[in-house]
Amino acid sequence: MKIVEVEAIPFAIPYRKPLRFASGEVHVADHVLVRVRTDDGVVGVAEAPPRPYTYGETQASIVAVVDKLFAPELLGLSLLEREVVHARMNRTVGNPAAKAAVDMAIWDALGRTLGVSVSQLLGGFTDRMRVSHMVGFASDAEMVTETERVRDTYGISVFKVKVGRRPVELDVGACRALREALGPDVELYVDGNRGWTPSEAARALRAMADLDLTLSEELCPADDVLGRRWLTAQTSVPTVADESATTPGEVTRELLGGAATAISIKTARSGFTTSQRILHQCEGLGVEVVMGNQIDGQVGTACTVAFGAAHRSSSRRAGELSNFLDMSDDLLTEPLEISGGELVVRPGPGIGVEIDPDKLARYRQD
Ligand SMILES: [Mg+2]
Repeated sequence: MKIVEVEAIPFAIPYRKPLRFASGEVHVADHVLVRVRTDDGVVGVAEAPPRPYTYGETQASIVAVVDKLFAPELLGLSLLEREVVHARMNRTVGNPAAKAAVDMAIWDALGRTLGVSVSQLLGGFTDRMRVSHMVGFASDAEMVTETERVRDTYGISVFKVKVGRRPVELDVGACRALREALGPDVELYVDGNRGWTPSEAARALRAMADLDLTLSEELCPADDVLGRRWLTAQTSVPTVADESATTPGEVTRELLGGAATAISIKTARSGFTTSQRILHQCEGLGVEVVMGNQIDGQVGTACTVAFGAAHRSSSRRAGELSNFLDMSDDLLTEPLEISGGELVVRPGPGIGVEIDPDKLARYRQD
């Protein structure tokens, strides 16, 4: 169970349709595949999606920090010394996606070594999650068409609508068009990716008060400290902290400061180990969680569903598990499939995915 190699392999797979939101847009999945090999010949994998507009990481920075700083510190450690792994990686500040991918690849290798599923190792609550689909910026008509297609094709009935445009009427109109087209049976919630000021967000929420939104996520920047508290205090829609609450310390600050009432957990930025700490912290504080999506590919999505399904409180709400549908291809030998609005945890040891060597050879950038 000794770690003998940690690899960071950059790869790029184009999107069929770019995803647009308030803080950026994504045309190509320029991710990094992290592989951890042990002296038993076991290989664990995970995926790091760089999000420079959120965390400052790039594909090149993830490769560099894994190759130059993390790998030399981790060689020789056992898969069971995960606290040591984190203590060593945390000598470097930041780099959440790189650290998360190393953490999850180690869990994958551990599951494969033991011949058991990581989801069961983490908690084994259920084997599936309901899926929530993210709807990016487009015209009202395009957003409605896309949402109806996803509902009819995959049976998905929960949609997160990207908002945060100016004027706010653009997004109010889009959400109203979606509610009118989809009817009362679908769940709708919104994510502003920090696009609005607190006063704009308050106006938008007032204008959408009749749309039965179930959550509003990160409508204003994290540095709008008092404005966020003011907004959260006046709305009856629960406020989800996403990119403002990526570590246990940030979660404490956002919740105790009154700037959020729910937390988005993303395995792509807190791995399995830190995600579990955040989840338990939220359970202890009596706060709901949502399994979020860092525009993950299929490897990352398999990680999210493995974690989300493992615990009662993380499997309660629909998880954001469908962004990979917009990619033109992926790395797995067997693609993930969403049906009946659900994604099932991959059976098999570890995370349950196998990388197709031909596809990796086609898409790798090194
Ligand atoms: Mg978000």
